[in-house]
Amino acid sequence: MPEVPVSVQRAINELKVQNSDPLCAYVYDLPELRNRAQNIVGCLPPGCEMFYAAKANPALPVLSALASFVHGFEVASGGELDWVRRHFPDTSVIFGGPGKLASDLEKAIDQNVELIHVESLLELQRLCDIAGRRQANQDILLRINLELADTPSTRLTMGGVPTPFGMEEACIPDALALLARQGRVRLRGFHFHLMSHQLDEKRHLTLIKHYLETVRTWEAQYGLSLTEINVGGGIGINYTQPDQQFDWSGFCTGLDELLQAYVDRAWRIRFECGRFITAPCGYYVGEVLDVKRCGEEWFAVCRGGTHHFRTPAAQAHNHPFDILPTNNTDAATPCVTDHSVTLVGQLCTPKDVFARQVHIASLGVGDLVVFRYAGAYAWNISHQAFLMHPHPEEYFIE
Ligand SMILES: *Cc1c(COP(=O)(O)O)cnc(C)c1O
Repeated sequence: MPEVPVSVQRAINELKVQNSDPLCAYVYDLPELRNRAQNIVGCLPPGCEMFYAAKANPALPVLSALASFVHGFEVASGGELDWVRRHFPDTSVIFGGPGKLASDLEKAIDQNVELIHVESLLELQRLCDIAGRRQANQDILLRINLELADTPSTRLTMGGVPTPFGMEEACIPDALALLARQGRVRLRGFHFHLMSHQLDEKRHLTLIKHYLETVRTWEAQYGLSLTEINVGGGIGINYTQPDQQFDWSGFCTGLDELLQAYVDRAWRIRFECGRFITAPCGYYVGEVLDVKRCGEEWFAVCRGGTHHFRTPAAQAHNHPFDILPTNNTDAATPCVTDHSVTLVGQLCTPKDVFARQVHIASLGVGDLVVFRYAGAYAWNISHQAFLMHPHPEEYFIE
């Protein structure tokens, strides 16, 4: 198991000193995040851009760390749009997501959103009405849920099968007819986000190849000249085999080769990744409060729980962790050695589990369990009010 980075250990020690109660905290390694973002963006072939999907982790220090490396932010609600615009008035913003309110669409126009990713014919009609009434221009992509002959299945399929996201391909003629009847909303291209948790570079390249071929066909079929293809996010993090992560640099090499077949293309290729960018920079730390045996099983109760860190419950996986041992020499406090242990939190529900029956060399009260890959879809997707426990400490390493 990899060690917890020294800078993260230092932050944890600092928090320990400041807190008289057992510790529970999020630590974010911003230098690591900047490094990662720079590498990810640096690998992209020419004509490709990386936007950060704010919904993965919209914390301001995270957005600020990323702002100078990514090409812009993708927002998925009026709330995210307000938040990003308030703090980054000049950054390029693109706006997707189902169920946009009319007021969200107005706000998008007011707040200078570069592209709205339109999710349905009704949304397109609403946007055309608003833009016409206000005599404002707005560029858009149509988000299409492509039918896939061979659905590359990951654990969270956003398309290729019936979902509430985007519009089906059969809607395109109606969408184009609607657009042709007005002069304010301009189609710049198509948007696809069919997959989450993608861990296989080759399959992802195959999927993107399919997008490009499809758009080329539509351009010919409908007489379009488009400038933009958004290939979504969805690059995964391998939580259960952390040493086997998506090979981003290999993927980018393959993408570069793939794009050689489209040298005459007018399209810019845009990614909007969330999880893959921020998950590795976050750590959730819980101090062991109790260790106990029930029948043949051992349980370690940690400070905090899935109301702070819902990721393992949401993904139904054993979350990877490291143990920082304490110097507890009190022989009276319970400790388990060389045994499987289930790590749980403080909630009164059997679902409050971080990792089930994981073999552990030694774990005792006062030890710190550090969950890695807690920088995306973690704190911000958790049911934070449940049981009225206090919020965890938050530490951003600068
Ligand atoms: C959530 C989402 C993303 C980001 O997904 P990740 O899996 O975090 O990369 C990108 N685009 C759309 C439309 C989304 O809904």
